[in-house]
Amino acid sequence: MQWSCQLSPEIGAHSAALSPSSPAFQESPAQGAQLWGTLSRAQEDLWYQVLWHSWLMLEQFPFGRRLPCDIYWHGVSFHDNDIFSGQVNKFPGMTEMVRKITLSRAVRIMRNLFPEEYNFYPRSWILPDEFQLFAAQVQMVKDGDPSWKPTFIVKPDGGCQGDGIYLIKDPSDIRLAGTLQSRPAVVQEYICKPLLIDKLKFDIRLYVLLKSLDPLEIYIAKDGLSRFCTEPYQEPNSRNLHHVFMHLTNYSLNVHSSNFIHSDNASTGSKRTFSSILCRLSSKGVDIKKVWSDIISLVIKTVIALTPELKVFYQSDIPTGRPGPTCFQILGFDILLMKNLKPMLLEVNANPSMRIEHEHELSPGVFENVPSLVDEEVKVAVIRDTLRLMDPLRKKRESQSQQLEKASVEKEDPLDSELAGVPDTNPEAQLPSICLKQVFPKYAKQFNYLRLVDRMANLFIRFLGIKGTMKLGPTGFRTFIRNCRLSSSSLSMAAVDILYIDITRRWSSMTLDQRDSDLGEQQLSSSKHQRTRPGRRVRLDCPTCHGPVLHRWEPERPLRGHVLGLRSGFRKEVCAWIERCFSPIAIAPDVWMCLQAFIEAFFFLAQRKFKMLPLHEQVASLIDLCEYHLSLLDEKRLVCGRSGTVGGRSPPHLPHQDTCPPPCANGADKFSHPRPTVP
Ligand code: ADP
Repeated sequence: MQWSCQLSPEIGAHSAALSPSSPAFQESPAQGAQLWGTLSRAQEDLWYQVLWHSWLMLEQFPFGRRLPCDIYWHGVSFHDNDIFSGQVNKFPGMTEMVRKITLSRAVRIMRNLFPEEYNFYPRSWILPDEFQLFAAQVQMVKDGDPSWKPTFIVKPDGGCQGDGIYLIKDPSDIRLAGTLQSRPAVVQEYICKPLLIDKLKFDIRLYVLLKSLDPLEIYIAKDGLSRFCTEPYQEPNSRNLHHVFMHLTNYSLNVHSSNFIHSDNASTGSKRTFSSILCRLSSKGVDIKKVWSDIISLVIKTVIALTPELKVFYQSDIPTGRPGPTCFQILGFDILLMKNLKPMLLEVNANPSMRIEHEHELSPGVFENVPSLVDEEVKVAVIRDTLRLMDPLRKKRESQSQQLEKASVEKEDPLDSELAGVPDTNPEAQLPSICLKQVFPKYAKQFNYLRLVDRMANLFIRFLGIKGTMKLGPTGFRTFIRNCRLSSSSLSMAAVDILYIDITRRWSSMTLDQRDSDLGEQQLSSSKHQRTRPGRRVRLDCPTCHGPVLHRWEPERPLRGHVLGLRSGFRKEVCAWIERCFSPIAIAPDVWMCLQAFIEAFFFLAQRKFKMLPLHEQVASLIDLCEYHLSLLDEKRLVCGRSGTVGGRSPPHLPHQDTCPPPCANGADKFSHPRPTVP
């Protein structure tokens, strides 16, 4: 269904009587912010509830959108070529970023830098690439501690609803060999001691609003869902390893168990509100504030791990300086509480289910949809408040009402105005209080020191050159090295090229393997997701006319014969350009350096330059150095044409270069942050 509605300025003023056919709606269609969406059948009920609770007005457009809108609500992904303004409810690249492998990689980078801060995600290995590493590391721990009897959970990349997941006790498990040949997957340490309620394992689904990427703004819903297993939990052993109703908390699986209890009561049944769980824990003396604070911390740190690559996607889809929408997104965080109440991240969902009804079997094979009050309670509030926060007119109304309030305070006693019946100027006053709690930038001070990769991503993006790409070419990498003054007698430009080729090739082969197994053929035609395999058609953007150039990627054969459909004037030039791209290092643009490869190269350079320090200090020192040289360059460009030299900016305090002595207090001070706690 395609639909549109208006975020009414009378929001909260009981304008429920307004309907699409109401004269008020037709007479003043431009009064409120316009919202546009495409919905699947599954989401319709939810939206009718949201509209009802928010007093929004709805109009359906069976033949598509007519005018630009303020908010666009897409069912699945960001892509819609037709949006040049407003706000879209999806970030480009989010679906890719929260896949199991990508998320594991992003968290791992952060764990390398900050091992203690990022221990909320089970140790994971990526299959098939890291199978040997997985087997070797498990063996090593077992050798050191023969009493260690671990369990591992294997999860196919891109899977959902428990699909294809299984438990193993040892890397040599025969089915793992099957996994190695089929879909890429993540194998993860299984959390054997979850917190149980009524002897059942459960997980928590929390809704998080990423309101903006730059500046980073995160909100967490005050309530979530707890999804219960339907078979009493036992620690995994060879007899119960296959009991999905005991080990997997997915609603989609457990709903098929005869033990599943649908309940309208938020604190009983197989799906409950998270607040009901907290109430119960609180009655047993658990420090609920600490649990919440740990969860908030987990959410902020996870988002911090995801933002660098999201920024790369963002600038590629919505280049700065060109018209485009801004983005926001509701994410579903799946969290498991351990027996000691420590929250562990299981996964992040880019498209969390927003169904508010469940199927009830009336008679064998005959189903009806029944409202689920628990889902309704949590999800309607999340969507309603997301709209309230994203409403572009909200700020205007807020500042207007603040001004009015200020004026009335200046004029007379507030009590007088109350007595005189001055209406509440805030139109939202009559709506329930916002269920979404801002956690970032509110707690930015405690977490900003973790945002090193974000700063690396800013450097990466700066050197991407042509907007719209996501990979750094060899020339861009060289420019980065030169502009940041990282080459020296001990790091020649030839060594820089070798570093580039080495790391880029390794990352390309890893990401190609992954994509090969699960990307549909249709993505071949997408310029953003090309695969470069011998014989495959590759699309490049011509440097002269910026039009698409198709050719077959045949590394062994000359490229010239494969350039298709070009006017002869351009052909020579483009052939020369393609050969320049390929021949020195034989790497095609779509397998140029990705952000992760850049990060690896950056780590290497940082370790080389600032020896003897913990990794995060080495990396931070190198970032400081790069940012310093780039700011000098920017200043130079600014004063270009004017006389005079660049003003007295002093270099960052870099006490640890090359052969410098062991870390001194200055370097350490900067990073000796107290462990963040959220009030
Ligand atoms: P999916 O996307 O297929 O739902 P999840 O990563 O959410 O995959 O895993 C499915 C279920 O498996 C989770 O809801 C949880 O109950 C269980 N699970 C996943 N990872 C672990 C883990 N490391 N330890 C214990 N249980 C886990």
